[in-house]
This record gives sequence, structure tokens and C-alpha cells, in this order.
Amino acid sequence: MLDYKKLSGLYIHIPFCRKACNYCDFHFSTQLDPMDRMIKGLAKELRLRGSTPKSPIDTIYFGGGTPSILTEKALDTLMETIATYYNVSLSAEVTLEANPDDIDAEKAKYWKRAGINRLSIGIQTFNDKVLNVLNRSHNADQALKSIDLVRQAGFHNISADLMFALPEASDASLRADLNTLVNLDLPHLSVYGLIIEEKTVFSNWKIQNKRAFPSDLDYERNYRIVHEELMKYQYDHYEISSFAKNAHFSRHNTSYWLQNPYLGIGPGAHSFDGDNRSHNISNNQLYLKQLDTGKAHPIIEALSLTEKMNEYIMTRLRTHFGLDFVRFEEKFHRDIKSEHPMLIDQLCSEGLAFLDLNKLKLTFEGFLISDDICARLFFPMK
Ligand code: SF4
Repeated sequence: MLDYKKLSGLYIHIPFCRKACNYCDFHFSTQLDPMDRMIKGLAKELRLRGSTPKSPIDTIYFGGGTPSILTEKALDTLMETIATYYNVSLSAEVTLEANPDDIDAEKAKYWKRAGINRLSIGIQTFNDKVLNVLNRSHNADQALKSIDLVRQAGFHNISADLMFALPEASDASLRADLNTLVNLDLPHLSVYGLIIEEKTVFSNWKIQNKRAFPSDLDYERNYRIVHEELMKYQYDHYEISSFAKNAHFSRHNTSYWLQNPYLGIGPGAHSFDGDNRSHNISNNQLYLKQLDTGKAHPIIEALSLTEKMNEYIMTRLRTHFGLDFVRFEEKFHRDIKSEHPMLIDQLCSEGLAFLDLNKLKLTFEGFLISDDICARLFFPMK
């Protein structure tokens, strides 16, 4: 059984969206009717997976799907259940992912009253033609207005999602998006290149040659534009896809990358108890049916020692916090530095990584090929 007494983060998955975006492979349903049942189910799982004494929580993250779909009653139910069964720190970071078309003045004010103190807004691009190809449910005007509205409601800790390497986009439109974001002066940006995932509309279009998609070279050139532009405006590229000003890092996501324990509630949500991972079934009906038995049914993925070491290497190298050789040796009794002396020298001399005291950190050039670098540092699976 997994042990969640020493939690750091709590993730709640809201598995509903108004529309299916053409690139998305997250778990969600566009059938919104079973929402009330789902909220009861989420509250039940929160209760069932709480422990005595109550687990301390430093960050809460409502992700999805589309959490901004939630009614006041639904969000109140979840917040009250969390407060009842978990020991939420007074300074907890409480994030809600929101789509621009869900945001109005009243809703933004309500979120503030409900205890949300960070918003992550799914903007993706300010180009209506591209938003249309992505099948997003908002337009550029709504995206701009949404930032204004949440600021008027008193939110300062705001993150926006931006995508690059998109069909119908160009280097010029990406630069225009970055320019708009920079002028909005948001403290945090999450920037993702399009990856065509299986079983998505884009994947079908690609297989059927219905549309041209950006190449790997376009992807790399776009990623470089994002990095170089945001560096000019004092954003810290602190994780492969994350940029922050004045240390406004996402505390919740940072906690994942530092391998702190977290509990994921809801269909498809993942958890980590510091040693092993688990996930819930990615099916709304079956998830609720399982809870009807009076027990949560996370599927446990026992990790071998080698998998744990490799995960540690991979998650640490994603960030500017870096791969800490001393912590690694304390945790796993293996000295990476002495196991890979030539490789580490080579990565540093090629400008892909650098040493910062006892840590190995990737440069931007290293971020570009981080998967290859990690694969070379990984311990072989037995
Ligand atoms: S709104 Fe988000 S979760 Fe929903 S389909 Fe679009 S990208 Fe996926």
C-alpha cells in the first residue's frame, strides 16, 4: 500500500471540456451531464485517501480537462472537503487552470474568495486562425480580456500557456504572440511545442496527409525563438517548458520535479508517495463505479531501484535545480560523477551542461536534446 502521510501536493483532475482540442490526449469528456456525480466522486476519493493525522499540503492544483467549468457549488464542495481531510498550509499555493472563454468578472472574483491564489490560463496563441485549427473554444480577444478580468479581481500570480510549432503559424506569428505576452508582463509562462499524440485529430490528419505539420527543424527553431525572446525580458528558463520572472516558479510543478510526494485525485490522476507511483483509471464511468465499492482503486506501479534512479536523473535535469550528485549518492548509494566522468566532461565542454558546485545542470542547448543526454546517464535496466 502506498503511504501518503508526508504529502506535499494535491492534484485534482476535472475531466470535462467544452470542446475537444485537435491535439489533446489528456483524459476528458465533453459530456458535461455527469458533473454532479463526478464532484461527489472526487469528494469521496479525497475523503477515502486522506489519512490520520491529516497529511500536510503545501500546494493544490485543479487541472484537467477544464477546471474553470466548475460551478461555485462544485468548487466549494471540493475546497471544503480538502480543508476537512487535509492539513493545508496557510501559505499554500492553490492553482486553477482556466480557459479564457470561461472567465468573467464574477467568476474571477468568486475564485479569489474561494481561496484560489494562482491561475494558469490556457491561451496557446493570440492568432485566431491558429486557434481555429487547434479547435480551441476561445478567440484572441477573449484571451486578452481574460487577463484583464483576473487582474481586476486581484490575481497577480498568473501563468499563461503558449504553444509553438503549430500548423498555420509562422516565426512571425510566434514572435507576435511572445511580444503580446511580454507586454502583459505575466510572472509565469508555460510554453509547449506541439507534439502529435496518437489518437488525436491531428494524428489522423497526419496519417491521412490532410495537413502539413511543422518539422523537427521548425520545432527547434521555434523553441530557440521562445528561449531567446523571453531571456531578453528577464524570464528565467527554469524548466524545459517553464519560464518565470522574479522567482515566480510554479511551486506545485517544482514539487513534482523535486520528487516530493503528491496525491492525484480523479480519473486518470497520477500519484507518487516518494517511492512508488500509482494512477487512477482513465474512464469517468469506471472511476465512479470503483468508488461505489467504498474504496479508492489506484493502480500501483512499483518502481525498481534502477527506474527510481533514472527518474531522479530525468526529472532533475529538466530543471535549473539540476542533478545533485550528493543527494543522489545519499538516496541511492551510487556516485554518478565517478560512474560517468568522461561523459560529464564532454557534456560540459560541448556547452550542453555545466557544473554548479555539486550539481549538473543543462544549458538551453542541453534542454534541446535532454532526452538523449538522460538516456546516456541512465543506469541500464536489469
Ligand atoms: S481544453 Fe485542455 S484538456 Fe480540454 S481538450 Fe483542450 S487542451 Fe485538452
